[in-house]
Amino acid sequence: MAKVALVTGGTRGIGAAICIALKEAGYTVAANYCGNDEKANAFRDQHGIAVFKWDVADEAGCAAGIAKVEAELGPVSVLVNNAGITRDGMFHKMTFTQWQEVMRTNLDSMFTMTRPLIEGMRARGHGRIINISSINGQKGQMGQTNYSAAKAGVIGFTKALAQENAGKGVTVNCICPGYINTEMVAAVPEPVLTKIVSAIPVGRLGQAEEIAAAVVYLASDLAGFVTGSTLTANGGQYMA
Ligand code: NDP
Repeated sequence: MAKVALVTGGTRGIGAAICIALKEAGYTVAANYCGNDEKANAFRDQHGIAVFKWDVADEAGCAAGIAKVEAELGPVSVLVNNAGITRDGMFHKMTFTQWQEVMRTNLDSMFTMTRPLIEGMRARGHGRIINISSINGQKGQMGQTNYSAAKAGVIGFTKALAQENAGKGVTVNCICPGYINTEMVAAVPEPVLTKIVSAIPVGRLGQAEEIAAAVVYLASDLAGFVTGSTLTANGGQYMA
């Protein structure tokens, strides 16, 4: 039977590419999303991937959503914590709401999504948890104190959880993408984006498929010796 992979924020951008790549690699895939039903339904119809709606910041919603996925598709053996948002602004102007929204979606979700699944993975002696952090969690980014703090938290969470579960057949890794050509980056004003691209040694934005390929590797049986790692994929922009 095909292994089940659950990808948060799986209906658009990097998450959508991850779902498609995992499906091509033979997994039964569940794509979670939060608000955009039109995009989610179009994605489901185009790619034949089941979509499930809940907010990753909502603890009870995650527990119920995961239970539904497992009831319909079977035990989840690959979890990709990909959903993320930005609420940018200089810190001296930032509201607590901007801070909290980013923390809840990008960092609290590590708990709300992973906690309901980890015991089953440990009991079965197999699991793959892949967390999507960011270059800006490694180097910090002006205007993104909230996002940089949350994404740095994802790296720490990954390393601690990897240590706790290494002896149980469960690996935990994270990927730090640089600037990838998705709607999140399309929202960056053109002059700012031009400046960003000029600072990327390979001279272009990354493609979502390039991150998805790394996820497929980390999910594979051959990656069983890789745990607690931070995979940097940023076109040479920052070498942590
Ligand atoms: P997009 O904005 O293109 O897509 C975000 C996805 O996350 C959508 O499917 C969205 O669902 C979902 N989502 C947002 N909030 C929630 C929530 N509370 N609960 C469930 N799902 C949610 O993002 P990207 O593809 O650009 O980014 C994906 C990940 O990669 C994020 O963690 C981001 O921080 C990280 N990243 C992105 C980079 C980039 O350059 N794009 C660079 C480095 C890291 P819906 O459609 O319903 O809104």
